[in-house]
Amino acid sequence: ERGRFAHRLVVVTGAGSGIGRETALAFAAEGADVVVTDLTADTAEETAKLVRDKGSTAGAYTVDSSDGEAVTRFAEQVRDEFGVPDIVVNNAGIGMSGSFLDTTVEDWEKVVDVNLWGVIHGCRAFAPMMKERAEGGQIVNLASAAAYLPSKILTAYGTTKAAVLALSNGLRAELAADGIGVTAICPGIVNTNITGATRFVGVDADEQQRLQKASSKLYARRNFGPEKVARDILRAVERNIAVQPSTPEAKVA
Ligand code: NAD
Repeated sequence: ERGRFAHRLVVVTGAGSGIGRETALAFAAEGADVVVTDLTADTAEETAKLVRDKGSTAGAYTVDSSDGEAVTRFAEQVRDEFGVPDIVVNNAGIGMSGSFLDTTVEDWEKVVDVNLWGVIHGCRAFAPMMKERAEGGQIVNLASAAAYLPSKILTAYGTTKAAVLALSNGLRAELAADGIGVTAICPGIVNTNITGATRFVGVDADEQQRLQKASSKLYARRNFGPEKVARDILRAVERNIAVQPSTPEAKVA
């Protein structure tokens, strides 16, 4: 046997970077076959290559998680080419920071489309085929400590993540009888590309710099990297428990 997840098929969305990539690699290191998605083919393919380097089978797909039809097509392709996944990690997400009063409807739509609808689409596409297969399974959704820790610049982002918590709790209760576990993971601040990609709404350049500097200091002190979240995700899948590796640093800002 090649590891704790030998002969398991894992799907990880948004796996071209950060937590998603490390999660794909952690499952591969434990023998799982892994299918990854991202918005760009090159980043997804790079992760797939790293998975193959570990001796596992990998698939890479370009899928926008916020596009429901694309996600449905993707799920059908995975089923046809690899089989029904045992584990689905709805990880794709974007950052957005700023004051509620400066957040426009378009800003809200963007963050809700990816962070909430992306998870809804992923669960809608994969949960029915897992249930139909009747061999159980695990769904892991990336929420955030921002779901429950107040921050004056994470209202919109935190709202999407609190919704992911509620979605996960409800679906977990609904699918328990089918042996399908649903877990929300709530990391604190993790050093990934998300900080650089985060859009700041109504935060001036000085304040933005101050926030970014404060964050990097914390990263340096805690060295809280995406591999740690990946470990938590594997542990949660094994024990089917909700994990909250959140840190007090999540209160920064
Ligand atoms: P990251 O930016 O390093 O990686 C996110 C990946 O998702 C990127 O490769 C990006 O291209 C992809 N992505 C974005 N929108 C997508 C879409 N519509 N469809 C498909 N892929 C898409 O960020 P990360 O820190 O690894 O974040 C992963 C998840 O963890 C996110 O849901 C994020 O909200 C959550 N999270 C991150 C932190 C943190 O501090 N980094 C904390 C708590 C929760």
